[in-house]
Amino acid sequence: MKALVLEQEGVPGQIRDLAPGDLPEGDVLVKVSHSSLNYKDGMALAGRRGIVRSYPMVPGIDLAGTVAESASPEFKPGDAVLATGWGLGEEHWGGYAEMARLRAEWLVPLPAGLSAQRAMALGTAGFTAMLSVMALQAHGVAPGGRVIVTGAAGGVGSVAVVLLARAGYQVAASTGRPELADYLKGLGAAEIVDRAATAAPGRGPLARETWAGAVDTVGGDTLAGLLRAAARDGCVAACGLAGGSALATTVYPFILRGVTLAGIDSNYCPQARRLEAWGRLAREMPADVLDGLFRVVPLEQAQGLSEEILAGRVRGRVVVAL
Ligand code: NDP
Repeated sequence: MKALVLEQEGVPGQIRDLAPGDLPEGDVLVKVSHSSLNYKDGMALAGRRGIVRSYPMVPGIDLAGTVAESASPEFKPGDAVLATGWGLGEEHWGGYAEMARLRAEWLVPLPAGLSAQRAMALGTAGFTAMLSVMALQAHGVAPGGRVIVTGAAGGVGSVAVVLLARAGYQVAASTGRPELADYLKGLGAAEIVDRAATAAPGRGPLARETWAGAVDTVGGDTLAGLLRAAARDGCVAACGLAGGSALATTVYPFILRGVTLAGIDSNYCPQARRLEAWGRLAREMPADVLDGLFRVVPLEQAQGLSEEILAGRVRGRVVVAL
């Protein structure tokens, strides 16, 4: 079986020929058909600190395929499944291999109506977008409201724009790539906002109440700017750090406007919420729109794309075909 293997930190991965016996322990063996490239995969492939916990490592935080062998009563050979997170590609060998052995409780049955390729076109990025939408809705951000998605042309951002627009929100897409305005409007964005304006909405600790809700993939000054410009009882779902991990803010948005800062962790999200999110993705993400926001590459190209995604040059999503 072919696999991309990271042998040590800072050394690019190499395609290796492994035997299924080389795989780590687990009760289900999956024949992987597709994985994907997420920002975190880019970090692992580029040798950034703090992602890969042990070597050798097969990266790939997402995978989809078919059960080949199962010692679990939950799954049988032939079942179509997907897995995202749970430390795949970080602590446990992930999806950049033709076979993966993992624990049954990490698997999600492929939702009806979703192919393995489309599931990976969503992947952790799409799943995170849905978790963010669910957080906004749980905090009372109702359809019709004006919401903003930052890093909008990236993977999480693109899916979030589609989901929110389809659910009836007025979506602003915040981007540093104005040349992608047509792409973002095609996904459902009603307005395009310059990334710099999102990060600096006027002076002072509170800006004009602008956003009923926000999905933030950028962090740093952008997240601080969203909190300042959040409307009364608004909610900001913080899921990313593409622009920085520091957060300099004040308590005023929270104590004077009742703003909620909702944290999103897709990696160790509990199974019940996972199943709900994947069910909603299968129902709410139109296949024709999804098909317009990803491209498919062979495993051999994943390593070379790592710097592209870290530099914010990837549009939408990248599926890795095994
Ligand atoms: P992408 O690279 O596909 O998208 C990130 C986008 O952020 C870029 O396309 C770009 O959008 C914008 N961006 C990039 N660099 C900067 C910068 N320096 N300043 C401001 N904006 C920038 O990554 P993903 O969509 O896969 O992931 C987005 C973020 O979400 C990452 O930080 C990732 O780690 C995080 N994430 C978190 C998860 C969780 O569970 N919490 C799960 C999945 C992802 P544009 O060109 O439109 O401005």
